[in-house]
Amino acid sequence: MKYRITEECVSCGTCSSVCKNRAIRMGFPCVITNKCIGCGTCADVCPVEAIVPINEDNDKDKDLN
Ligand code: SF4
Ligand code: SF4
Repeated sequence: MKYRITEECVSCGTCSSVCKNRAIRMGFPCVITNKCIGCGTCADVCPVEAIVPINEDNDKDKDLN
C-alpha cells in the first residue's frame, strides 16, 4: 500500500527515524519517496495522523462515500 503525508504534518521527524528504508525525506511537509515499501510503520507512529494510505483502487469509488 502506498502512503502520503498530508498538510497535518508538523515535521517532528518520528516517521523518518522509524523508516528502515529511509524513504521519508524531511522538510515541510515531509515526503515519502519511491523507496517506500508500504510497511505502514510511519503511519503507526505519526502523532498527528498525517500519514495516510493512498488506495488507488478506491479512487473510482469516491462518489459512493
Ligand atoms: S510505509 Fe514503511 S517504508 Fe514506507 S515510508 Fe513508511 S515506514 Fe518507510
Ligand atoms: S511523524 Fe507525522 S508529523 Fe512527524 S514528521 Fe512524520 S508525518 Fe510529520
